[in-house]
Amino acid sequence: MSSATPVRLLWACLTLAAAASAFGGERALIDTTRSPQAVMYMPDLADVRWDGGLLGERFAVARDTMVPHMGELMKNPATSPAWKNYRIAAGLEQGRFRGPPFNDGDFLKWFEALVQVYAITRDPKLEAQMDEIIGVVAKAQREDGYLHTQTIIPQRAGEKTKEFADREHFETYNMGHLMTAAAVHYRVTGKRTLLEPAIKAADYIERLCRERPEDLARNAICPSHYMGVMEIYRITRDPRYLKLGERLIEIRSLVPPTDGSDHNQDRMPFRQMTEAVGHAVRANYLYAGGADVFAENGDAALLKPLEVLADNVADKKVYITGMTGALYDGASPDGVDHRQHKYIKTVHQAYGRAYQLPNLTAYNETCATIGYGMWLWRMLAVSGDAAYADQFEQTLYNGILPGISLEGKHYFYVNALKKLKDFDVPLRWSRTREANIPVSFCCPPNVVRTIAEAHNYVYALSPDTVWVHLYAASTLDTKWLDGTPLRLRQQTDYPFDHRVKVIVDAAPARDVALKLRIPGWVRPGQAKLRLNGAPLADAAIELRPGSYATLRRTWKAGDVVELDLGFEPTFWEANPLVEETVGQVALRYGPLVYCVESNDLPAGVALSDVVVTPGSVRRFQPATEQIAGASLLTLAFEGQVRRRTAWRPGQLYREHADEAPQTITLKAVPYYAWGNRGDTEMTVWLPAR
Ligand SMILES: [Zn+2]
Repeated sequence: MSSATPVRLLWACLTLAAAASAFGGERALIDTTRSPQAVMYMPDLADVRWDGGLLGERFAVARDTMVPHMGELMKNPATSPAWKNYRIAAGLEQGRFRGPPFNDGDFLKWFEALVQVYAITRDPKLEAQMDEIIGVVAKAQREDGYLHTQTIIPQRAGEKTKEFADREHFETYNMGHLMTAAAVHYRVTGKRTLLEPAIKAADYIERLCRERPEDLARNAICPSHYMGVMEIYRITRDPRYLKLGERLIEIRSLVPPTDGSDHNQDRMPFRQMTEAVGHAVRANYLYAGGADVFAENGDAALLKPLEVLADNVADKKVYITGMTGALYDGASPDGVDHRQHKYIKTVHQAYGRAYQLPNLTAYNETCATIGYGMWLWRMLAVSGDAAYADQFEQTLYNGILPGISLEGKHYFYVNALKKLKDFDVPLRWSRTREANIPVSFCCPPNVVRTIAEAHNYVYALSPDTVWVHLYAASTLDTKWLDGTPLRLRQQTDYPFDHRVKVIVDAAPARDVALKLRIPGWVRPGQAKLRLNGAPLADAAIELRPGSYATLRRTWKAGDVVELDLGFEPTFWEANPLVEETVGQVALRYGPLVYCVESNDLPAGVALSDVVVTPGSVRRFQPATEQIAGASLLTLAFEGQVRRRTAWRPGQLYREHADEAPQTITLKAVPYYAWGNRGDTEMTVWLPAR
């Protein structure tokens, strides 16, 4: 027998294993299986399935409504020019470029959601749809790898149009989303049809980075390409792309001080940053990309600013809903010299100064919060620090889910924490969800892909360790990199219930650690664990809030772990430096932030007259209710109304009258569900007496 035979057999087995998606993590949304600094990696894109529950219900709406409906929206020239632009650029139709410059990338975000739904359903109709789209996108690409329909369409018509003429053209953003979408498509289907165009685009940027680094640096607007390039590196293992990822961060220092600004985070070199500033989508994409580069090269000088920036946001600049980017318009908090007016530059959709968190005028672009979530997961992956997972969860439930209506067809671009009908100050964006946002359709496909992909964030693996970051009814069916299987199920109605049951169905015949996140907001001593029905003594295992409880043993099929986080509805307050919430409280139940909507108030009660007395609320009455077809938990509790005479138009101040309070029953709904029952008034924060 020749020695080649076993090699060939082994190769055949490996190929078969690959076809059966046995790579365990190498076909994940973000592949950190071989990232030297990552302490964990995601399971493959189809390894986690929802078994009902809140997030499972959201996925079902994504599969059945959000994704197909958005496909119709983006492919119909009457509602979106995105698809037509690609077709014109591909030479399949005649016409001019229309729409915002970032539409190419936004179309690809929707495509990514389509691929993720396909990964779960394996519906051949979706595969045909994907193939058709890829055929057009690939045809639209220039031979040198450049892909940006706004430039390619006039160039095809013989007009002289230059690349990178305007930093607001978002060329690298569009090509970055091409790379990310292609990585997901390749990992799900094994096809290289979109991966090859994405590699060509990465090569184009790599050439540009060598030949015209200043141009590239100046045009790094919403730098999705940092994350994109790193996924291309993780697929190809070509060190050129790692080098490119590193250079993309470094060349930001080449932006001349006269061009750089806090708005675009290019006033100072990345390594010197200490404060999250400027356009929050751009900032969070940059930080997420920086974390990807650190995961691969271990450059501590990259990690340090990322940790400082993450603390800066968590400690001073994030809403209780996990949203970021508080300001419609503001000024750079620093400038070259904050004492000299001439250096101050304007910022918009931006991080404000510390504690600057308005509610009525909160900007909170949905994309900024999604970018924050992407950054948080990457920080978690390189640290294993449960605080990042806590913040991720907070952001997912309260910052990302509200971006789309429960029925799946209306979108928020900005996300206020309070809405009052008398506050008629004209602002740039609607505070009612809209069926279309033609001038800025970035958030809708971003929220749809994130909801479609949410299951990827529930678990993570590292050698002989399985991490449970999120609690949700789901099944994990995966393999470790050595091929040994792992199957476990979570039975729970979390976040509407505090009890979680983890059932092991298959595990390797060796010690494996099960890491269960004990959220930081759980009171000390509140969480309880049982293993196969027997309570685990506190001395046997540490259940410290803000950490992972670790159970290490040789698991056998049928083992059951029961975790009771024991949480109840609680009122929260903000640091008094947050001027907008002084004297007010917000209601939370587990990870969910609640709000009060005007249509749940007794007749004749104005939302701004409602007061709560947290100390006298002895019990909450939970009720399972339906809003727009979604099942959720509402909380009723005793509050007060201090009926005040109506304010006259133009009346800014008046003598205070201490009206006697009347007791009323208030009802709170999860914040993610607000605005689904007509155009209501709403508030997260309520005055406390
Ligand atoms: Zn957006």
